[in-house]
Amino acid sequence: MPEGKSWSRRDFLRATGIAGTGSLLNAAGVLAQGLGESGGAGQDTRNLIVPVRPFGKTGANVSILSLGGMFDIPSNQLLMKQALRWGVTYWDTADCYEGGKSELGIGQFLIKYPETRSQLFLVSKSDDRDPAGLTKLLNRSLERLKTDYLDLYFIHGIKDIDELNQKTKAWAEKAKAEGKIKYFGFSTHSNMEDCLLGAAKLGWIDGIMMTYNFRLMHSDKMKSAVDACVKSGIGLTAMKTQGGGSVNQESEAELQMAGRFLKLGFNDKQAKLKAVWENPNIASICSQMPNLTILMSNIAAALNQTKLSSEDLELLKQYACETSSSYCAGCATFCESALATASPISEVMRCLMYFHAYGDKDRARELFAGLPGAMRRHLKTGNYLAAERSCPQGVPIGKLMREAASLLV
Ligand code: SF4
Repeated sequence: MPEGKSWSRRDFLRATGIAGTGSLLNAAGVLAQGLGESGGAGQDTRNLIVPVRPFGKTGANVSILSLGGMFDIPSNQLLMKQALRWGVTYWDTADCYEGGKSELGIGQFLIKYPETRSQLFLVSKSDDRDPAGLTKLLNRSLERLKTDYLDLYFIHGIKDIDELNQKTKAWAEKAKAEGKIKYFGFSTHSNMEDCLLGAAKLGWIDGIMMTYNFRLMHSDKMKSAVDACVKSGIGLTAMKTQGGGSVNQESEAELQMAGRFLKLGFNDKQAKLKAVWENPNIASICSQMPNLTILMSNIAAALNQTKLSSEDLELLKQYACETSSSYCAGCATFCESALATASPISEVMRCLMYFHAYGDKDRARELFAGLPGAMRRHLKTGNYLAAERSCPQGVPIGKLMREAASLLV
């Protein structure tokens, strides 16, 4: 159902039985009641469908909420079915997620429900960059996912647009001609703005998934990067939209913000999603939703059309400013180039984010273990003063590198 023709606020409130305040928290509860089917004590929620937006100039429409596949999908087949029922048809996975189990779990689902493949916008990613590696990993993904094609294929986690070249372009064109992929692009959580600006100049990138949230969306550089991609027809998916996790509610300002959103019927997580959806140029938000509680909370936020007021958005912006030193913005060129020896600062920060903000300690340790051993060993004793001076967020880099060296082993 295209955006604009989707559920009006009144429809939503009527269908979910929510009067007056339109509480999204209650909405998630109503969705939960309807989990079975229609009838019984629960309400019929089968017709509630997450809206879609166009994905750049590809011609595809994608659900504005995308299911991130970094969780135990083989054991959560019911959740996949529910996601699909509520219109979360954009599914994101990667060759490396859960050691391959993420793709295998989706494959298991598609073997059981082959008729659902045509409803899905299915995305996977390759950690390899060279054509031979791309071919090997794409074929493995197709085999695991039990499908003949992917809707979109990403090179995973680029830091610099120069990681893509003419050979990449020729490979993508061939994979499209063979019918193995429909669209091609990359994901990025480091130097996102430069990667987006570079992609817009290339002219052959169909889609990008990048870190984008209430902390990053207001900078002039990010705004220009998004505009350039829109002009080039590139579809954009936002990830890491929580901007480092929940409001920790330690300060008066944070408590005030959380309280304000609660009065509006949102929790702070839903408010952060809604802040990103306010930008119509973001086609979708990719969110890790490893259980039905999070899935329903996010779906309730996606269905509800209440807009955040300019005051609400300003409050989030203010919160982002006040807590900037607790958030790594992924601008690795600043801190890493300030040091004489190579150091994976932004990668280590990402590991800490998984550990603290997502509570995913296994994933954090797995990512950390993948970093070069010599670099990991250097973290405890390294001098990061120059990097700290270059950091626009004022992140206490040295302290966090030492913390990572102790926590993540
Ligand atoms: S530590 Fe600072 S400079 Fe380095 S990537 Fe994070 S925010 Fe950017």
